[in-house]
Amino acid sequence: MPVRTVDPARPEEDWEGNNVAVVCPSCRWVYIVSGLIHQGERSCPSCGTSRVRVTGGRESGGRAELEWSEQQPSVSSNSLGLTQVPERTFQHDLDVSERYQNFSSELLRLALLGLAGIGYLLVSLDPPTDKKASIILAHLKEIDSYLYVALFCFGACAAFSLAHRYFSADGLSYHLEYLRLSLRGAPEDSSRAKDERKSRNRRLKLGGFLLFAAALSIGLGAGALASGFCKAVKVLGDNYKSGNSSPNPGPQPDGTAGTAPHG
Ligand SMILES: [Zn+2]
Repeated sequence: MPVRTVDPARPEEDWEGNNVAVVCPSCRWVYIVSGLIHQGERSCPSCGTSRVRVTGGRESGGRAELEWSEQQPSVSSNSLGLTQVPERTFQHDLDVSERYQNFSSELLRLALLGLAGIGYLLVSLDPPTDKKASIILAHLKEIDSYLYVALFCFGACAAFSLAHRYFSADGLSYHLEYLRLSLRGAPEDSSRAKDERKSRNRRLKLGGFLLFAAALSIGLGAGALASGFCKAVKVLGDNYKSGNSSPNPGPQPDGTAGTAPHG
């Protein structure tokens, strides 16, 4: 096995007192070796194929040696969680996924806003009083089919958006595992990586479909709500034209019940 003196002039090595830091020549893992804590000798904690021995201090004529194996590190001893993914590779995938997740968050926000808006419209915007019934409630029969469609679509959009967020994150975790297995390259990793890739592709495809379904739902819901509003405006307009501005006069002073002009 090759052996050389640790050289602090190299960017991947340092030696201070009886403490040495090196980058493992086999697996590129950084580790430190202390004359005190490690009794002057330590193997690479990641792959175990390199070893540093330090005796005495740097300024006091001590020695620090790095020994490593030319053979590939024993990959199966390298935990998958410790397999490092090169910088700015997975991060790019994460960035792209985040854009899609932000889009589905926005759809979810709009869908919930739509649901709350319909509730507000029916209950709080025009509450019925003793004198007259709510105009919206009095005309609900004419626009309720639009509202049902809008409510259903907004509910579906919220469900699709949430499902998209789950499958997108799940797909990403399969993607990371696939990358790590491909990088580690142990004999059994190749077939496992294939399985992970299949699972990832399935989830990402499903996520894409769910995002499309969520966008379609919110579009349909918004369309139905807008049509409902148009219909409501038309009904109210017709009402005014026929000279009956109050849709339900409510109970009359003499105690007889009022009649609604519509429905
Ligand atoms: Zn190593």
